[in-house]
Amino acid sequence: MTEPSPIPHFIAGAARHPAGGASAPVFDPATGQQSALVPLADSALVGEAVASALGAFAEWAATPPHVRARVLFRFRDLVERNADRLAATITAEHGKVLSDARGEITRGLEVVEFACGIPQMLKGEFSEGVGRGISAASFRQPLGVVAGITPFNFPAMVPMWMFPVALACGNCFVLKPSERDPSLAIELALLLKEAGLPDGVFNVVHGDKGAVDALLDDPRIAAVSFVGSTPVAQYVHSRGTANGKRVQALGGAKNHMVIMPDADMDQAVDGLIGAAYGSAGERCMAISVAVPVGEGTADRLVQALAPRVRDLKIGPGTDEGNDMGPLITAQHRDRVRSYIDAGVDEGAELVIDGRDFLHKDNQQGFFLGATLFDRVTPAMRIYREEIFGPVLSVVRAGDFEEALALVNAHEFGNGAAIFTRDGGTGQEFFQRVQAGMVGINVPIPVPMAFHSFGGWKSSLFGDHHIHGPEGVRFYTRYKTGTVRWPAGQSSGADFAMPTQK
Ligand code: NAD
Repeated sequence: MTEPSPIPHFIAGAARHPAGGASAPVFDPATGQQSALVPLADSALVGEAVASALGAFAEWAATPPHVRARVLFRFRDLVERNADRLAATITAEHGKVLSDARGEITRGLEVVEFACGIPQMLKGEFSEGVGRGISAASFRQPLGVVAGITPFNFPAMVPMWMFPVALACGNCFVLKPSERDPSLAIELALLLKEAGLPDGVFNVVHGDKGAVDALLDDPRIAAVSFVGSTPVAQYVHSRGTANGKRVQALGGAKNHMVIMPDADMDQAVDGLIGAAYGSAGERCMAISVAVPVGEGTADRLVQALAPRVRDLKIGPGTDEGNDMGPLITAQHRDRVRSYIDAGVDEGAELVIDGRDFLHKDNQQGFFLGATLFDRVTPAMRIYREEIFGPVLSVVRAGDFEEALALVNAHEFGNGAAIFTRDGGTGQEFFQRVQAGMVGINVPIPVPMAFHSFGGWKSSLFGDHHIHGPEGVRFYTRYKTGTVRWPAGQSSGADFAMPTQK
């Protein structure tokens, strides 16, 4: 058996293979075989990456915004040209089907395209004549070195929510990708270099909690963007802000889809099946709770869903015919399975049971069958907690108000959707639902890159959503100047608050 290959860090424009030190295995989830070793950076190595970013900052910040954008234009083309290879890397380490991997690359590229236009947003504001011979100007400046800490479920898209915006605004970046699918980050770093990004502006350090803590405690880092589970998001936010950093920390989710009696049931079921089981439910915008309104709607929904769930094609992501791949690790698969056990113990009605699924050619793969529960109640753990797997719970509601109250009472508020033909009901839901991203007859309302992405309640800690205009605000700080030219004669000291007559 050949030794699994080690994945390098990327510091100061070059791959860095550490000699010794801690490491972790990386798996191909479809086969269950170890495919690589990822080094886990210690604080000294994280410090080197930060120093490299800091060393590059003054020059990058002074580079005109349109020249910075040109690098991103070239990066955009390179990613597009290499999209098939990048998608294959994602599928090999994450397990999602190739079409889904290509989809996340496209969504990431949309942020790069947005970032190419950021010079337009850095123009600032100017007021002539705020006093006699005095003008005022406001503009936004980069923060310095910023860090991104990302989850396993979107190894391309989530980093691309962050660094294109940060770089376009003139910051330097240290990325700490998930240690479970770390290879893509290095491929992106190499493409940025090929696009002409100066060495040191973008760095990648692999690692676990130790590397994250080193980033959070490093006083040279001005801001941290985090995406991952809620307990870690909360931790990163509190430790980062206690250290004086700006932090946006996006956490977990439990997204509901309300299905009204007047909804187009075919459209709702098509939407639901993709949103619940796409990427094996490992999406923060997955729909994990369906809320049909009225017993008749619920019966029709479950009847239509059950055969579709049973017939989902599950297998390696490399096989284009499959709808759903494996889960990320054996431990995560076992955890999701234990939630199904808990649902049964708590008395939910198990309509489709995915626990015994075995893929015939890949019995060691981390597969789990698609699972459907009916008559789930708000007190059950499978309702309260994020499962992050292919498990959909149906919670029946008596009317619209009960459905809305259910959504609003949940701890999480990432996304929420409603399917209805009634514009008034849709509008009412849009206005009153406590979630950051809302879909009306749209199951996965992930905002376009030129809007911003983020949830409410325990789905986000911090004040800024990610990418779009909020991303530009997050990665810059505002400065206002009041300017008098020429510096004329003094009219004497004045001890009152300056005002203009
Ligand atoms: P995770 O929280 O386990 O890991 C996220 C990052 O934090 C990784 O880089 C990891 O190395 C690091 N980390 C893990 N444990 C840590 C600890 N104790 N201290 C410091 N750092 C730690 O999340 P995951 O399992 O990789 O990703 C899935 C989660 O991410 C789900 O909860 C999902 O909802 C969430 N997610 C949220 C969004 C969103 O936009 N809100 C998007 C994608 C994923």
